[in-house]
Amino acid sequence: MTILQEEPAIEPMADAPTPLDGEGFRRAGYALIDWIAEYRATVGQRAVAHHCEPGSIRAMLPPRAPQCGEAMNTILGDLDRVVMPGIVHWQHPGWFAYFPANSSFESILGELASAGLGVQGMMWSTSPACTELETHVLDWLVHALGLPERFLSSGAGGGVLQDTASSAVLVTMVAARERFTGFRSDLRGLGAWEEKARSRSVVVYTSDQAHSSVEKAARIAGIGKEFVRLIPCDRQGAMRADLLAAQMELDRAQGHLPAFVCASVGTTGVNAIDPVAEIAAVCAAMRDPESGATPWLHVDAAMSGTAALCEEFRFVTMGAEHADSWCFNPHKWMPVNFDCDVLWIADRAELVRALSVLPEYLRNTATESGKVIDYRDWQIPLGRRFRALKLWFVLRSFGIEALAAMVRGHVAMAQSLAISVRANEKLLLVTEPALNLVAIAHRDGDEATQRLIDAVNRSGSCFVSHCRFHGQLVLRVSIGALATTQLHVDTLQRLLEHETAS
Ligand code: PLP
Repeated sequence: MTILQEEPAIEPMADAPTPLDGEGFRRAGYALIDWIAEYRATVGQRAVAHHCEPGSIRAMLPPRAPQCGEAMNTILGDLDRVVMPGIVHWQHPGWFAYFPANSSFESILGELASAGLGVQGMMWSTSPACTELETHVLDWLVHALGLPERFLSSGAGGGVLQDTASSAVLVTMVAARERFTGFRSDLRGLGAWEEKARSRSVVVYTSDQAHSSVEKAARIAGIGKEFVRLIPCDRQGAMRADLLAAQMELDRAQGHLPAFVCASVGTTGVNAIDPVAEIAAVCAAMRDPESGATPWLHVDAAMSGTAALCEEFRFVTMGAEHADSWCFNPHKWMPVNFDCDVLWIADRAELVRALSVLPEYLRNTATESGKVIDYRDWQIPLGRRFRALKLWFVLRSFGIEALAAMVRGHVAMAQSLAISVRANEKLLLVTEPALNLVAIAHRDGDEATQRLIDAVNRSGSCFVSHCRFHGQLVLRVSIGALATTQLHVDTLQRLLEHETAS
């Protein structure tokens, strides 16, 4: 294959004053848009992976920041010289590693509009459009994904944009902790059960295939790694609800508080789907007799949530009607550039109670009227940018049908790859692909699988990643890049066939 050596150089332009004035911004902005368009038009001809040695990018940079401003021309030119050699091409059509990180032109424009407006949307009053557009677009998505009405802002629930799924699990875990430990006792004196709750340890449950962000959240929330229970999975990688129930009973018998469960809808390794409805039943049966609280059920559908755009894949929303919170990342499979995680809460008051601190300088009449949402109370930082714009741009310019067609296309490509793996006597499918992730191993064992991964990644035309599943090394093929077509999956298939031919 041809790998482009030349970078799409920025067209020279007359030097603009520094800092840029409006006219200079226009010229530099047009040049940069041209550069991005050219990069995207040619990205498929590049080698996906980088070939850098550690420190090689820093070696091209001066040791100190410039004392005098440099021309934007020079800076943009250094995108080619300094930055491009250290870029892994996530937008490449042969991107099959980790998960997709789709950055459509539409979302780039939304991002640009957001930066151009430069507002802080921490409260309704600091830019009403920033809050209302977000609330509205997230209500649209409840309908588009077929999620339960309890997540609509018209009831007790509602959606909020977080930066990442990691933040979503952290804020919901904190709300769950507060559900059990009654933080308001600080203000009004400890009630009997609250006193007792504080002396018991809060316990968090997830599967041994769940994303590491759950453990990280437990550490940050002060729950601690020792109170994170990783529940074993079945052969397909789904959490065993019976083992969850047994572990919760054991913890309760030891005086602990089973407080939070994170179910995965699409695990990071093999995209396994936990039985959310069964897990919800386990949570419901675990009502704490003293506080009356049940463990908070959070669903992490980071990548696979997007599949719910298609009615036939709505198994990914099963059980959502029992969840306290449900999140997915449009910044993965839905073509909204990083960062963009949607978190829906069934009872927004619980989140707000856990996170709201109202200093005098943030008081305002709109907040006090109780008629507005202040998203600062739904997240970790105070400040927040206008993330909803890029989601709005994408939903409007693609439309739900085109987004659903993209999902269907990727799933069909995954199925075609799975068929070729089944037909290859040297390979095996580690799990049956439910959606767009194909988990493959070499029948000769881990070393052979590693050789296969290395060969694919050396090719330059495709890039895959790995995981370990039930002790076995797995070559993961995650099909979801916006630019990927069947031709690119065929290229990967031919590589696998070539490497297993002898
Ligand atoms: N949850 C799952 C299932 C994931 O696969 C990932 C990332 O791959 C995450 C959470 C973390 O995502 P984020 O980067 O949005 O925190």
